[in-house]
Amino acid sequence: MTVNTDARTDDFTDIYDLGAPIADTKAPDVDVSQRWDTRRFEAKLVNPANRRKLKVIIVGTGLAGASAAATLGEAGYHVTSFCYQDSPRRAHSIAAQGGINAAKNYRNDGDSIYRLFYDTVKGGDFRSRESNVYRLAQVSVEIIDQCVAQGVPFAREYGGLLDNRSFGGVQVSRTFYARGQTGQQLLIGAYQAMERQVAAGTVVNHTRHEMLEVIVADGRARGVIVRDMVTGEIESHFADAVVLATGGYGNVFFLSTNAMGSNVTATWRAHRKGAYFGNPCYTQIHPTCIPVSGDYQSKLTLMSESLRNDGRIWVPKKAGDDRPVSQIPEDERDYYLERQYPSFGNLVPRDIASRAAKYVCDEGRGVGPGGLGVYLDFADAIARLGRKTVEAKYGNLFDMYAQITGEDPYETPMRIYPAVHYTMGGLWVDYDLQSSIPGLFVAGEANFSDHGANRLGASALMQGLADGYFVLPNTLANYLADGPYEPVDESHPAAVEAKQEVTDRIEKLLSINGTRTVDSFHRELGTIMWEYCGMARTEGGLLKAIELIRELRTEFWRNVKVTGVNEDLNQTLERAGRVADFIDLGELMCIDALHRRESCGGHFRVESQTEDGEALRQDDDFAYVAAWEFGGDGGKPVLHKEALIYQNVEMKQRSYK
Ligand SMILES: Cc1cc2nc3c(=O)[nH]c(=O)nc-3n(C[C@H](O)[C@H](O)[C@H](O)COP(=O)(O)OP(=O)(O)OC[C@H]3O[C@@H](n4cnc5c(N)ncnc54)[C@H](O)[C@@H]3O)c2cc1C
Repeated sequence: MTVNTDARTDDFTDIYDLGAPIADTKAPDVDVSQRWDTRRFEAKLVNPANRRKLKVIIVGTGLAGASAAATLGEAGYHVTSFCYQDSPRRAHSIAAQGGINAAKNYRNDGDSIYRLFYDTVKGGDFRSRESNVYRLAQVSVEIIDQCVAQGVPFAREYGGLLDNRSFGGVQVSRTFYARGQTGQQLLIGAYQAMERQVAAGTVVNHTRHEMLEVIVADGRARGVIVRDMVTGEIESHFADAVVLATGGYGNVFFLSTNAMGSNVTATWRAHRKGAYFGNPCYTQIHPTCIPVSGDYQSKLTLMSESLRNDGRIWVPKKAGDDRPVSQIPEDERDYYLERQYPSFGNLVPRDIASRAAKYVCDEGRGVGPGGLGVYLDFADAIARLGRKTVEAKYGNLFDMYAQITGEDPYETPMRIYPAVHYTMGGLWVDYDLQSSIPGLFVAGEANFSDHGANRLGASALMQGLADGYFVLPNTLANYLADGPYEPVDESHPAAVEAKQEVTDRIEKLLSINGTRTVDSFHRELGTIMWEYCGMARTEGGLLKAIELIRELRTEFWRNVKVTGVNEDLNQTLERAGRVADFIDLGELMCIDALHRRESCGGHFRVESQTEDGEALRQDDDFAYVAAWEFGGDGGKPVLHKEALIYQNVEMKQRSYK
């Protein structure tokens, strides 16, 4: 199908179809502060004896999956869990550095549940659901108590209270942290809670197993098809409900800060089986990453946002100024965030800080190789606080920077540049975290639910643990209360078909025997996505990207070379399947970005900006969640709109000045 790439005023009906509107029917129609209590009270319960008769599959052992497995196991359900790593605790969540938010107000600096709710809705540029975000803010305070009880070693103040720091887009200190290893410490907590259930026999964990299909039998998600990544065996597993906690899809851009293995396959396969994909184009580009240093690179490294508490961001005032830092006097430096956004300074939200870095580099004021970098400078902080204090707060991040760049950030400013980091889009879910397939629940970064068009820092860990420890145990129980469902086994036509789809695809990938490596396709896709669906997007660029991606797909299925066999450890085969799904997702992301003719949060349409270059929303036309239905191979995706209704927060142009 060729794409009409002329300037257009139509609704792109040659590219997608418009379906019926949808709504979240699960959040009770009461005051926002009462919705979660009301939902929990109205939800059906399962008595402890009956829980032993019910099975749940959880794919993913990051913070969302491990916390769900631990809690559901503890409650007495039979949980089968899967991850593709060799240990659950190697999930990508382990990489999280900076912290986790909670509205504890330990600092007595004006924080509250309402303020966390407000900051998150505003930070997401008024493109998230009020109900979900309010619940997230409510549950945040319980998460910290739970983690402390597990022994998570959060940083403490001298007096013994848990310490807090600030993250972007807020003016209070509500971020709890464990040095620069918060994700690791939280994951160890969730993992040990899950392992306790493994020992108790309620959770069975399968490592090195990759889910490649969901089994939808008689209209309900009833199981998964997985590949044993060591032997190649294709297995079917069945349950009364399935949870996907499989993380985000930032690696569609090839270069990102995500773990190398992070991928979209689980959610994309579910999408093909009927789960709507929500807001796929909402991608977060993080302002503080180590700049790309060459073509050989396959991974980017984050420098935590927490560094913006004390580090000052600047570039030379003059374009093309390539003097060493020590020779650029203070009055020739432009602390552009402090200048443009005096209220929030270096702690503006990520979308704004990233765009500002792009602008100064586009003006020729960037630093380092290729001029694609800005300074993050700790000289003032070290002078004010002393090296020891800075070391205690950020030591491991400084070490990481020094090891990767060979430069000492205590002596010379870090160089940073924006990079792909997180995906706000994901499978569409209702208030219960149930997707459009009954019985298929989605948690953590894999769902679209809480962050709108831009996620505030330290809120992904909060959401993952909220979903796993607190939300799912209630909402899933409500679904399971109608079970056990009619038994389904390998002979069910849906199970036979799903298994066949998996084996056919593997055979096809192995049989092409072309001339191009899987990585070369992935890299090319990433280049297209970054160029046309990255920090700035235009109609012409997106139309072109759709065309290029379609050509790339044809070339992939004609010319990819997948070496080895299925019946063995075969990383090329694993990657080929993931890249094939990334190609399909990439096209949908561009279609979503194309149809949304407004700028909001991380989605910046060049055609829709304020006079001073900020994102300009078009609330009359786009105050909705875009939930995409799979339109079949070669078919058009179908757009269902879920209207966003704000009753507790006034929608306005975001300002951090
Ligand atoms: C470098 C970095 C630093 C970050 N720092 C912070 C921070 O300080 N604070 C914050 O709030 N957020 C942070 N984030 C974001 C946060 O880490 C993630 O959003 C969050 O950890 C995602 O958790 P998750 O449980 O949803 O998924 P993940 O941790 O990504 O786990 C996914 C799981 O799914 C499994 N899986 C996936 N697909 C399959 C499949 N097909 N078959 C079987 N298993 C599968 C994987 O094996 C894994 O177990 C950071 C992100 C990055 C990249």
